[in-house]
Amino acid sequence: MSKNLAMQLLWLVGLALITTAPVRAQDRLGVVASFSILGDLVQNVGGDRVSVTTLVGPDGDVHVYTPAPTDARKIADAKLLVINGLGLEGWLPRLLQASGGKAPIITATSGIVPLQVGAVADPHAWQSVANVRTYVVNIRDALVAADPADAGVFRANALAYSAKLDALDREAREAVARIPESRRKVISTHDAFAYFAAAYGVEFIAPSGVSTESEPSARDIAAIITQIRTERIPAVFLENISDVRLIRRISAETGARVGGTLFSDSLTGEKGDAPTYIELVRHNIKALTGALAD
Ligand code: ZN
Repeated sequence: MSKNLAMQLLWLVGLALITTAPVRAQDRLGVVASFSILGDLVQNVGGDRVSVTTLVGPDGDVHVYTPAPTDARKIADAKLLVINGLGLEGWLPRLLQASGGKAPIITATSGIVPLQVGAVADPHAWQSVANVRTYVVNIRDALVAADPADAGVFRANALAYSAKLDALDREAREAVARIPESRRKVISTHDAFAYFAAAYGVEFIAPSGVSTESEPSARDIAAIITQIRTERIPAVFLENISDVRLIRRISAETGARVGGTLFSDSLTGEKGDAPTYIELVRHNIKALTGALAD
């Protein structure tokens, strides 16, 4: 090997070491996200320059969360706090006060025109992928402001992730377009899919008179069956019915398919079906199209 080539190789190895050297833990920007979906978005934009902690973790319910004492500690230590806003984190103000944290708080839904549920804003804006592009812009700008030295990294990560979101948005539209128009409706006990419905044109119909809190009564089930028949609804996603016999009965009496699970407000753990936001949307698209196809 010529001395020149050896020098060149040495230089290349050195360069590789510099560019791939992991960022030391203490150099990472500590960011707290209020719930798992936001945490994933922050991680995608922040990459290895951030250390992300979520308050409401995978499979947790962000609506009815009871903060733990450790949450106040997390907030006190954070350099940035990312929240959804639109009334999702009703438990946050008291926690903030208790934590004494001084980190800036950014609202990831800033600039999104919310859908209304009666007089209040519907907080589930992330169910439209186009909205999540706005989340990403807000998160990127907040990270750049908190850590200007890594601005280039945050901008590049946001750009790359937004391209993935664009592809996901197209995927959702194409999947729904393959469902015959008359079949684009499901019964769901979740009130979390209004943004999805508005963005992609699948109608979500709540079963009349059925609470989402508890298991439906026999009378509720009878009402659901009538509703499925009269409105010719091809599929049901009833997440608060855990009784398999009830689900089978609804399906047998109406011919409606039982669609399985739709993920709304939380990621699953690593081994689940929706450990990331992109996988969550993909799972939901698959569940819907599978249940609504001819
Ligand atoms: Zn919700």
